[in-house]
Amino acid sequence: MDTRRRWRARFAVLATLTATLLTGTLPAAAAEPPFDPDIGRRPYQPGPMLVNPGAGGNTANSYGFNLVRVGGLNNPAYYELQESYTVRLYFNYRGSTDSATRDKERHWIQGLDDVMSTMVLETNKWVGGRLEYDSYDGETWPGSHGDREIAIVFANIPATGIASPSSHLDDRGAVYDGGLIRLIASDVWTELVDGSEDGDRWSRYAMAIPVMHEIGHTLGLAHYNTPFRGDNTLMSSVRVADDVSSWNDVWTPGDKAGLMNMAGWRTRATQCANTGSCQQIWAKNDPLAWPPQPPDHTYDRIP
Ligand SMILES: [Zn+2]
Repeated sequence: MDTRRRWRARFAVLATLTATLLTGTLPAAAAEPPFDPDIGRRPYQPGPMLVNPGAGGNTANSYGFNLVRVGGLNNPAYYELQESYTVRLYFNYRGSTDSATRDKERHWIQGLDDVMSTMVLETNKWVGGRLEYDSYDGETWPGSHGDREIAIVFANIPATGIASPSSHLDDRGAVYDGGLIRLIASDVWTELVDGSEDGDRWSRYAMAIPVMHEIGHTLGLAHYNTPFRGDNTLMSSVRVADDVSSWNDVWTPGDKAGLMNMAGWRTRATQCANTGSCQQIWAKNDPLAWPPQPPDHTYDRIP
């Protein structure tokens, strides 16, 4: 082999490494936050992928996503997903014994059940296969979700959807334990489900947008209301089915970067945010990407 070519190849690798080290080192030099009497310790040091300490939930940043505050902390360095979650639809009487209302709700649940596995699959690409969809088989909402479960119900709520993530702080930061997603009990769903059952893709995207948005909240993502790399993110309040041309772009690069960060793939998340080209964590028959690697805690502060 030609020596000059080999050297050039090595030099290229070295240059890439140096660049990675530089970008990786700079944010870690942030000052240690002061002792916080409310939580009885110093807040965790923000990691390089996270929003600025003190930034509001709607503040834009260069990464395309914001994370939800946990336990009074604006910005724990350590946000993490559990290894697996079950996503489950439940029948919820919403306090009504009226059979027409119950029939409508059954119809909406059946319509969602048809496309839920696709929504979960699309999300799984960015969280490393952590979600598993358990098909609906008539279960009634028990009143609270199980550990590591993301429960979805229809309810009378004053919004299209409301997510209530469950999280706890461990000795380093925030860990997500699942959550409850409530979707508005509205006749809008009747039209969308009818359209979806007729094979109308627009109707399916229109169903997926609020559901996947709320799944994003249960996995730690907050709102990000500024267009990022030319797209309104799914975690904004303004993304609509008209903006979607395939299942792969229901989540936008900013959302994907956020989910990958939550799943511990910070290098890929950074690349996804910086380039808009996002390499999925999970793909069938991809031996390099499966099983998911454990999270990289290089930037976490260990107290
Ligand atoms: Zn929201």
